Amino acid sequence: INILGIETSCDETAVAIVKNGREIISNVVASQIESHKRFGGVVPEIASRHHVEQMTIVLEEAISKSKLDWDDIDAVAVTEGPGLVGALLVGVNSAKALAFAKQKPLIGVHHIAGHIYANRLVSEFQFPMLALIVSGGHTELVLMKEHGNYEVIGETRDDAAGEAYDKVARMLKLPYPGGPQIDRLAAMGEETIDFPRAWLEDDSYDFSFSGLKSAVINKIHNAKQRGEQLKDEDIAASFQASVIDVLTKKTVRAAKEFNVKQVIVAGGVAANKALRAELETQFKTLEIPLVIPPLKLCTDNAAMIAAAGAISYEQGKRSGLDLNANASLVLK
Ligand code: ATP
Ligand code: MG
Ligand code: FE
Repeated sequence: INILGIETSCDETAVAIVKNGREIISNVVASQIESHKRFGGVVPEIASRHHVEQMTIVLEEAISKSKLDWDDIDAVAVTEGPGLVGALLVGVNSAKALAFAKQKPLIGVHHIAGHIYANRLVSEFQFPMLALIVSGGHTELVLMKEHGNYEVIGETRDDAAGEAYDKVARMLKLPYPGGPQIDRLAAMGEETIDFPRAWLEDDSYDFSFSGLKSAVINKIHNAKQRGEQLKDEDIAASFQASVIDVLTKKTVRAAKEFNVKQVIVAGGVAANKALRAELETQFKTLEIPLVIPPLKLCTDNAAMIAAAGAISYEQGKRSGLDLNANASLVLK
């Protein structure tokens, strides 16, 4: 079974073909980072226009690299949400046009289900499985007892982890996207500032990063007023230590409570070197298998959408040609 996946929820135009939900045949991503950099973040109208310009090119490249033709494609899967509505619409309409013209089943995919299924391109799932999702718009702990079944046991009450990275990076005048910049700086610094950790209620798996963000702003302002020298490297390292501490400890606690057979990490922040290292250390001690995708599969791509679509295909889930983009689609 070959599924063609399309992803346009944010600022990458991506098309991929995945075989049997596990094997990447082709995976093409056109990133728009350069166009958004000078604005310090993603500008929705620019994103939509780029998707329109790139879609045909990316699609043709994904098909030509796969060495397959349309007879070999069994279905078209597309991110239907959540994301920027104008950006999503480009992917959804392209997928609908292809499904109609080529007479293929259409499958709408939740973007976060896609991030989770990026891991199945690395290793087969073992249930019950715990997924830590840390991306630009989401921070969630999801318990999965079987394919295609998602139980959100914790989520952020304010900012997402990636968002916090991007905001702190902006305070340090680092270019967009800030996550990789903080990652790099933090490796050169030390945790000299004791930033707060938002544990919330004892039994909660929810997250909160806005207090930490404010603490970083205050620290920078106060230091400036007092003429105190703070190294950006140390601010980055201290901020990151707080984020990683909370993410890791909550993930460990949930993995134990739900007796999971596997832990997977998904989303752009899973590219973070220190987070990867800390999770690896913790789960090695616990002897619970941990899967973290290679960097290219952590950030937005269409292989993950095709991989998630493959499960829906197997389970007989189909979307109609009236499929619409849904900016706030809920994972369930
Ligand atoms: P969502 O998936 O929630 O809709 P998104 O698609 O914009 O949001 P991703 O593309 O999965 O998010 O991830 C982008 C985020 O990952 C950005 O916030 C970016 O700063 C962050 N990020 C990327 N690399 C790193 C890194 N090495 N360390 C920390 N954060 C990182
Ligand atoms: Mg992105
Ligand atoms: Fe994403």
